[in-house]
Amino acid sequence: MSNAVTEKKYWNEEIETLDRKALEELQLERLQEMVKFAYENAPYYKRSFDEAGVKPEDIRELSDLAKFPFINKQTERDTQGVGSFLGELAAVPEEDVVFISTSTGSTGVPTMSPFTKADFDEFQDTESRWFWQIGMRPNDRYVHALNFSLYVGGPDVIGAQNLGALCIWGGTLPSERLLYILKTYQPTILWTSPSYAWQLGEKAKKSGIDPKTDLAIKKIIVAGELGGSIGATRKAIEDLWGAELYDFYGLSDIYGACAAMCEAKDGLHICEDQILVETVDLHTGEILPPGSVGELVFTTLRKKARPMIRFRTGDIGWIDNTPCSCGRTHGRIHINGRKDDMFIVSAVNVFPSDIEAVIRDLDGITGEYLIRIFEKDYTCKYAVEIEKNAGNSKTDEEIAAEVSTALKARIGVKPNQVVVHPDGGLNTRSEHKSRRIIDERKLNYSI
Ligand SMILES: [Zn+2]
Repeated sequence: MSNAVTEKKYWNEEIETLDRKALEELQLERLQEMVKFAYENAPYYKRSFDEAGVKPEDIRELSDLAKFPFINKQTERDTQGVGSFLGELAAVPEEDVVFISTSTGSTGVPTMSPFTKADFDEFQDTESRWFWQIGMRPNDRYVHALNFSLYVGGPDVIGAQNLGALCIWGGTLPSERLLYILKTYQPTILWTSPSYAWQLGEKAKKSGIDPKTDLAIKKIIVAGELGGSIGATRKAIEDLWGAELYDFYGLSDIYGACAAMCEAKDGLHICEDQILVETVDLHTGEILPPGSVGELVFTTLRKKARPMIRFRTGDIGWIDNTPCSCGRTHGRIHINGRKDDMFIVSAVNVFPSDIEAVIRDLDGITGEYLIRIFEKDYTCKYAVEIEKNAGNSKTDEEIAAEVSTALKARIGVKPNQVVVHPDGGLNTRSEHKSRRIIDERKLNYSI
């Protein structure tokens, strides 16, 4: 590999630096094709467009997409397996499909996402773009420590391989085995979840390995949880490893990673040549201008096997189309949290990610936490459980008061209670993905 190749800044310079006007022209052309293709080939879109009184020819400019109906997770569930194995959202026959991933089903029946060969190759080229964007080069050794079983993020390792990196298909190995690989093979880049990156670094230290000096990890990619976009969490993991942390964002319904941070770490660039993003009001569905917080709605511009037209992602965030210092022209998304995780206390929207940001920023506590949401006197309340550091000489009451004050300052509403545990007292440390929210309101209804 010559220096000219390894030193190029962009994976696909022409696409990644297209000026805004040309990018929007490309999006319009692709949107028109995709909506027509979906209408002519997917029974669901034929029916729903007819019912809404819209036709593919109605799309004359990008804003015309607003006339078209939304779909969501429930649409996927209702249509999969109907009429054919792939269901009514699919727009190609089964023989054209080479791969399906499926969601975990954590919020209901698992949904599957089909890819044609061309879809899959383009998916992997996009993943190569993200890897290149965070500085991966052919001389890197890369450990892909994500679940390979059915998960859409599993195949992303092929994007790293196509880029030329030496890839180690780690999967969800037990941490002792993963640490052995990190120590013995000295890989330079690792992808895992933020909570697991934290746990693994701590585990390494406890077993006498200093992640900063005994390992060669220089970059960590995280996804699957919000931590990578929470400044205090990102910094804590970066300090623990002596490495740069980059947040990626994926959807089981579309790609393993649809958006990724660049070196500026100010939001995540979305592949706007393949995905069109809208932000809409949570309740009315009205389109909001860039910079306003709302639900993110994605439309795929290229995936043929199952076009997703106006898919409500359930994620709350905002889009930033202002120029990025890295030179890429594609917009950046900022994610605030899942719609399902948001709760309202005294008319204030509270995201668990805001609570995490506070907990991770305070000294004298471990950063582990548990949030309990419950009803008292017919109003929603929240309580936070934390761990104090072994050497912390303050009383539990003093620590609880500190946490409570910091939460009130950042979020606007105090927790009903702060419970202080000793170091290791919370049972939130788990392999790969932690569950840190207990919503007792939901438990009352669903059990
Ligand atoms: Zn950038």
